[in-house]
Amino acid sequence: MPPKRPRSGSPAPVRLGGLVLFRAESGENDLVVTFLTRERGLISALAKNARKSVRRFGGGLLSPGTAAWYDFRIREKRDLAFVERGEANPKAPQLPPDPLIRALSAWALELARAFEAPRNPAPLSFNLLLRHLGALSRAKDDAPPRLLARSLSLSFTKLYMELAGFGAGLEECSRCGRPPEDPGLYLITLNDPRVVCPRCQKKLPEGVGGGAARFPLPLVEKLGKIKDLKNPVLFSLEELEAAENFYRALAAANSGRRFKSPRAIKGLLEADSPPDPPEGGKVGEAGNKEGNP
Ligand SMILES: [Zn+2]
Repeated sequence: MPPKRPRSGSPAPVRLGGLVLFRAESGENDLVVTFLTRERGLISALAKNARKSVRRFGGGLLSPGTAAWYDFRIREKRDLAFVERGEANPKAPQLPPDPLIRALSAWALELARAFEAPRNPAPLSFNLLLRHLGALSRAKDDAPPRLLARSLSLSFTKLYMELAGFGAGLEECSRCGRPPEDPGLYLITLNDPRVVCPRCQKKLPEGVGGGAARFPLPLVEKLGKIKDLKNPVLFSLEELEAAENFYRALAAANSGRRFKSPRAIKGLLEADSPPDPPEGGKVGEAGNKEGNP
């Protein structure tokens, strides 16, 4: 080990509240961890020896979904910062071991990782994500088909996408500008996730609009009522399935990313649900295919 010497160019450590979005192993002992912070948006930081250091990062402080205090050394001209230690925040939400809650949290973390930027302060996203993880962690006793946990996730997704500048545009048809009316708007869930009214949908070119999910008017209105996460809105199973698919496609199309958590969520929900009837019992399966594999 080379002797430790204070280098003139070494930045002073700064303590920030951070939320762990992602981590990857680096070399034999290190981790590269992506945090979301209020003050500096995304911070990607090298945690030296973190795979061994129980003292500096004890209690899973570098696990995705953890919110705590972290000491960073941020080098202004480099993308990679250093994180030197973490300290638990007793007020931060503790995610339960419930696999679906974990998977829904992973979706929220993936969204933030896809849409936030380094050095771009993100107080609203940070607060929204923290509040959402708190609500999710309290929804662990939600019985299958997990309508509460999924409704919380949908509400978060709707608000987060608006915050990121990629809201669904439910107020009007993206082609003719008409407001929603019965029998509701249609949403194209494949390559081009946009709100299109039934009238315009008939005029779409061949091949566009495949896999469209119908958003009936009550669903559009219900989504429109979500302004914050304070009062949870409960959605039905049909509403959830249509809206979840649409928002996943919307996030994928606007970020150019492949999200991993939707597949895990789907698998967990299928494992929770009663077995399918033997023949022809799966209604609407083809129409619900996601745009992103
Ligand atoms: Zn239209």
